[in-house]
Amino acid sequence: MIWVLLGPPGAGKGTQAALLAEAGSLAHLSTGELLREHLRARTPLGEQARRHMESGGLVPDEVVIAMVRERLSNGRGFVLDGFPRTVAQAEALDAIAAEAPYAIELAVGRDEVIRRLTGRRVCTAAGHVYHLDSHPPRQEGRCDVDGSLLQIREDDNEATARRRLEVYDEKTAPVIAYYEGAGRLVRIDGEGSATEVRDRLARVVRDVGVIEGG
Ligand code: AMP
Repeated sequence: MIWVLLGPPGAGKGTQAALLAEAGSLAHLSTGELLREHLRARTPLGEQARRHMESGGLVPDEVVIAMVRERLSNGRGFVLDGFPRTVAQAEALDAIAAEAPYAIELAVGRDEVIRRLTGRRVCTAAGHVYHLDSHPPRQEGRCDVDGSLLQIREDDNEATARRRLEVYDEKTAPVIAYYEGAGRLVRIDGEGSATEVRDRLARVVRDVGVIEGG
């Protein structure tokens, strides 16, 4: 089974995907995180992706689809976060997946998204995510998990964050309509604490009947 988490940058896809994956023994696949690993390691793919990511645009479909296809080939259940981001990616995913993926939209208002993006801090070693107000690290500026330095994600600066939201409206909002049209979309309220959203998400997943008693 493949679950797709949809929603604008800052909707909490990464946080919720990690929680859902843990609860349901699923693999969490974040294309943004995979791409940032390529950037850090300066691979050819990373060098190809860099300018798109730094400007707040999308990495070309064929690059991302190839990356996802390779990861999905080892067959378990998955939670996808940050993919698909275009209708072409959603169509490709339907073709790759053995069973039709199910999408959950995390609905979050624009003001809240901006607040989340500007307060977000990530660890330099592994991308663990914090928020200055709602999820501060125990020690200022340090990751609770691995002690590495926290930093502002480069594309969370205000101009780039705004560009990412425009790209979301233009390219990714139609993906929601795609799943809705296919009868494979549930929308949940993505505002509130991570635990509240986690519980709403768990109810949906239970209703769809995959994680029994989870
Ligand atoms: P994220 O961590 O999901 O916010 O992704 C960060 C950046 O990586 C995005 O702004 C895009 O530049 C790129 N990216 C991540 N996932 C995709 C995707 N599915 N398609 C195209 N670009 C992506």
